[in-house]
Amino acid sequence: MSINIPDADVIIVGAGSAGLMAAISLAPLRVLLISDNLPEQGQTASHWSKGGIAAPISEEDSPQKHIEDTMIASCGFADREVVSYYVNMAPELIDYLVKLGVNFDYTSDGKIYLGREGSHSLHRVLTANRDSFGLELMRVLTKNLYNSSHITQLSGAKVISLLKEKDAVNGVRIKYAEGEKNIKSSATILATGGIGALYARTTNPSCSKGYGIAMAFEAGAKCKNLEFVQFHPTAINCELEPLPMISEALRGAGAKITNSSGQRFMSDIHEMAELAPRDIVCRAIEDQIIAGKKVYLDIRGLIEKYPSALKSCERAGINPEKEKIPITTAAHYHMGGVHIDYKTGKTSVKGLWACGEVACTGMHGANRLASNSLLEALITGRLCAKNIVSSLGKSRIKEVEKNINLSPYVSAPLPEEMEIKEIMTNNVGVYRDNNMLQQSIDKLIQVGQKTENREIYLCSLAAKLIASSALERKNSIGAHFRKDYP
Ligand SMILES: Cc1cc2nc3c(=O)[nH]c(=O)nc-3n(C[C@H](O)[C@H](O)[C@H](O)COP(=O)(O)OP(=O)(O)OC[C@H]3O[C@@H](n4cnc5c(N)ncnc54)[C@H](O)[C@@H]3O)c2cc1C
Repeated sequence: MSINIPDADVIIVGAGSAGLMAAISLAPLRVLLISDNLPEQGQTASHWSKGGIAAPISEEDSPQKHIEDTMIASCGFADREVVSYYVNMAPELIDYLVKLGVNFDYTSDGKIYLGREGSHSLHRVLTANRDSFGLELMRVLTKNLYNSSHITQLSGAKVISLLKEKDAVNGVRIKYAEGEKNIKSSATILATGGIGALYARTTNPSCSKGYGIAMAFEAGAKCKNLEFVQFHPTAINCELEPLPMISEALRGAGAKITNSSGQRFMSDIHEMAELAPRDIVCRAIEDQIIAGKKVYLDIRGLIEKYPSALKSCERAGINPEKEKIPITTAAHYHMGGVHIDYKTGKTSVKGLWACGEVACTGMHGANRLASNSLLEALITGRLCAKNIVSSLGKSRIKEVEKNINLSPYVSAPLPEEMEIKEIMTNNVGVYRDNNMLQQSIDKLIQVGQKTENREIYLCSLAAKLIASSALERKNSIGAHFRKDYP
């Protein structure tokens, strides 16, 4: 079936927090916002984000302290200039979110409530409903989206290629339930999120499959730091897919990690114990599991204030008031991605911008500081929009079409997808070495060569790019740990 798609100045691929923020900020240009599902279906990492957004807004805090904590968590590998630029923009961003309508949590004396998360030296994370920040953020961004007359939303379509003419990206090819189609634009923004769903054990929604990285790479865009995949230490060890997780906010509030012998092993490993950087907590948990122990998170006595954690436990069949929660590590966040200029969101290819988790600015280095990702996603979304508005000037399009909601484009998981997930979890996980990585690359190339399915091909390409970067980096830093180069 052929569909009529209106012309747009700007195409945005992805309707998470970065894509929505870019879309809202692009007025008066005409925007076509393409996503495989509707924002209100709640299937993006942005909806699932829990703890909140970090910003140095308290009297005891300062941009300098936030910058230092980010640098330390990143193992000194973050780009200080980028970190400083974004952290200094954070207070204004928070004011803007309040203006847009975000209801942050407040203390009983009327101050903004600030939670504490791993590696933050003080309370700095703004929350909503304590551990459901993403739902509140996306409620507000979606409401603003529907109130914006310059945006046409196309849902139920997956972007499967970037179109190129001469040296510039000039649109996208979409796949939907009944067919495929090319759509042209003057500017294209990738906001496709992360790569966690390339792993069998992940906290990410199924849309996080690295399509953006693979398509940008094919179009000739530079990618950066792809080996740095952050694993989350407190995913619930259960049969659900993806794994529900317990926000770091609970460890900030006193939750303890113990092993099956009852030992609180983190205090022997790092002075911040359970609040050590995520890569350190993850390796400590993996070591316990390798030694044949089980690992638990004890949140007894804390659950009342954390409704999202309670729901996650209930889904996994656990009563967190009475029992400790069995936990495991799970792929959670990608520090690497499509390299962008941090002030404009431009990629190395003309006509193509990127924002949010698919992009790599250098903000997170080798290990992301908790709750810095939404900060970066929202700022890069706004910066892409600002740069495109100033480059394109006035809109060339007169009419804005109504939203087009195609029937949901859902591709059932194919056996090759499960194969990719197993390869990534077994060989490109918390610990890696030369043999594991080489084997995974060979297998991923085979999957890519065998398949006739475009989405599987893109997944295999994204996975192969990550494994190849991990093979190239012959040292251990942050989330990238080589057993052969410890
Ligand atoms: C469980 C969980 C908890 C988290 N908690 C926090 C937190 O407390 N604080 C924090 O700062 N960060 C947190 N994060 C990380 C943060 O949520 C993400 O980094 C951020 O939301 C990414 O936003 P995004 O807009 O880039 O991507 P997403 O929100 O994932 O949106 C991606 C969009 O792209 C669409 N898409 C993808 N590929 C295609 C395609 N080919 N065609 C069409 N559409 C496509 C998807 O459907 C989706 O609409 C958490 C992540 C998870 C998974």
